[in-house]
Amino acid sequence: MQTAIATVCLSGALDEKLEAIAAAGFKRVEIFENDLLSFAGTVADVRAMIADLGLETITFQPFRDFEGMPDERRARALERAERKFDVMQELGCDLLLVCSNVSPESLGGIDRAAADLNALGARAARRGLRIGFEALAWGRHIADYRDAWEAVRRADHPAVGLVLDTFHILARKTDLNAIRAIPRDRIFLVQIADAPLLEMDYLSWSRHFRNLPGQGDLPLLDFMEALGATGYEGLLSLEIFNDQFRGGSARSVAIDGRRSLINLFDRLGERTGRRPRGAAALPPRTAVRGTEFIEFAVDEAAVPSFEAMLKGLGFRHAGRHVSKSVARWNQGAINIVVNSEKEGFAHAFNITHGTSVCAIALRVDDAGAALDRAERLLDQPFRQAVGPGELEIPCVRGLGGSLIYFVDAKHGLDRLWEVDFAQVDSPPAAEAGLAAVDHIAQSMQYEEMLTWLLFYTSLFDLAKTPQQDVIDPGGLVKSQVVQSADGSLRIALNASQSSRTLSSRFLAEAFGSGVQHIAFATGDILASARRLAANGVKLLPIPPNYYDDLEAKTDLAPERIEELRRHNILYDREGGAEYLQAYTRTFEDRFFFEIVERRGYQGFGAANAPIRLAAQARLAGGAALARF
Ligand code: MG
Ligand code: MG
Repeated sequence: MQTAIATVCLSGALDEKLEAIAAAGFKRVEIFENDLLSFAGTVADVRAMIADLGLETITFQPFRDFEGMPDERRARALERAERKFDVMQELGCDLLLVCSNVSPESLGGIDRAAADLNALGARAARRGLRIGFEALAWGRHIADYRDAWEAVRRADHPAVGLVLDTFHILARKTDLNAIRAIPRDRIFLVQIADAPLLEMDYLSWSRHFRNLPGQGDLPLLDFMEALGATGYEGLLSLEIFNDQFRGGSARSVAIDGRRSLINLFDRLGERTGRRPRGAAALPPRTAVRGTEFIEFAVDEAAVPSFEAMLKGLGFRHAGRHVSKSVARWNQGAINIVVNSEKEGFAHAFNITHGTSVCAIALRVDDAGAALDRAERLLDQPFRQAVGPGELEIPCVRGLGGSLIYFVDAKHGLDRLWEVDFAQVDSPPAAEAGLAAVDHIAQSMQYEEMLTWLLFYTSLFDLAKTPQQDVIDPGGLVKSQVVQSADGSLRIALNASQSSRTLSSRFLAEAFGSGVQHIAFATGDILASARRLAANGVKLLPIPPNYYDDLEAKTDLAPERIEELRRHNILYDREGGAEYLQAYTRTFEDRFFFEIVERRGYQGFGAANAPIRLAAQARLAGGAALARF
């Protein structure tokens, strides 16, 4: 496939868009007319810029409201096209994208549309140009690719071809089988976009919510399979209208675009055993077996209070790094690494973000293959100096500049606690029964959310849940989870457009995106809560009203509810499955821990999230008042 991207996908002025597109490694671009019109430079300037960047312009788009116009308007529509042809020739582009007419003045009839396309094609051919016809999902008379193809077929002109756009086809749930019968040389362009499943009109859905392949819910692989049956190996271009992208970084969206195509072709290969010509074979998606450790960057002065908190949670000081100011704290299968080095990555991270999670290490089968896949997906590997004899654990950059390490047994990296750490004689801990990491919640800018969704789901063998809205007293928080089938890794991605939500306040306090809370699994939350109370840990207070309501809506025994109330434990149920959760208070107004007990339950207690957020907002407000 010859991959490309439309300038409309990205934020900024045309020169910024083109630079971002070239920097991401694209070789071809679709020029959106408005980007050209709004650019402060001549068409010749733009052509030179495109050539300098090593790009090729594959289409000029869109040409609207053309086919089926009444006679008096028809001549004018053809004349209008000639002006576009002038621009295209100046630009050095040979394909005009014509989208189906939405004008109430237009007349129906495939033959009429075909005759108009034939006339336009003949005019284009005179200049060595071509036209591609696309059915908009909201076209007045032609809204289905099968009708567009019939019009193109009857136009019967070599300069007239079909444009297939996955959004228009899949949004309408159009049957894909007819694609298989279209001769591949009559398809001039394929535009690819994903989108979340939403109940709204096609136009608004398309203009605001399209996203990159893999970020949404459309059955793109079904489409690619049908397209593959034609033997098509031509242009495949990203055409994404998305509000988050318009507000985001052009460079980052362009790289995401390339990553989304590499991932799409990989998934297609995974499904069909065949990937498009030129698409590289990647190591399989990385299966995550669990979280090996979570590393915090902590300033030396903050170490005593941080470690006191860990002790309260039942962790034991289990090891000291052989050459660095780094400690291992352990409980069950959970390892917390406290890094208070005065130089290097963690130190720099701490200076920028304060006490925070600077790295997460994941257990995988083959760390080398995981790093290889990451690099092929354009993720950023990271290396730092290690002492003699110490393990070099491969890693890539994750959210907010943090790191994701890959630990495996295959390369002996699972020996890190023996090799890099010395045992310490510490008193036995007042364990709280915390057994493993259940989930990790990350807060980020709203504009970044799709980036990290794609990052996680392309690199790892994780599925995404539908996006949810969570009510925070300060506004709405968007939340989406990526998780492995067996629950060995669950990451909740949270973002908010309101500056007053807890999620947004976290971004302000911590100077950027990062881990906001970590949930630990326990087999008995009441026993854990009692232990934490004995250790002096104060949990987030939950208002009594919550428990009155619980009594009204569940059949839990009053004694059981009383116990939940006494320990500030939240409760949720799905069918026969139960979820119990409690929260610590926030550390330095930044992050907090959650304790969860799952009894066959798959979710995250979404029904309780507004209660928790309100409780946290109350405490934060109280703290603010106390300061003055
Ligand atoms: Mg399109
Ligand atoms: Mg949680």
